[in-house]
Amino acid sequence: MCCKKLWPKLFLLKAMNSDRIREFKKKSAMGKIKKIEILSGCISCGACEVVCPSVFVVKQEAKIKEDAQIQENEDCIREAADMCPVQVIRIIEE
Ligand code: SF4
Repeated sequence: MCCKKLWPKLFLLKAMNSDRIREFKKKSAMGKIKKIEILSGCISCGACEVVCPSVFVVKQEAKIKEDAQIQENEDCIREAADMCPVQVIRIIEE
């Protein structure tokens, strides 16, 4: 294969790997989730339940399910906390 055709693929591969490395560094800098709290001010938008239905349930306002498996759902919990429009999901790490 000609070098001119190979360069864009190498550049794309490098960019993809740097994203993966950045993601890995970000995850390894975080601790394990010990507890989650929902602070006052929930506007019941339902985003957390959509993103992480095994942990959050939204009726009048968001609640954490009693049988929620926190360790198994860390990624979606963090995603729900990031997506919450009023930032009331508090993650407490070990
Ligand atoms: S995403 Fe935030 S505001 Fe929306 S229901 Fe969940 S806790 Fe409430």
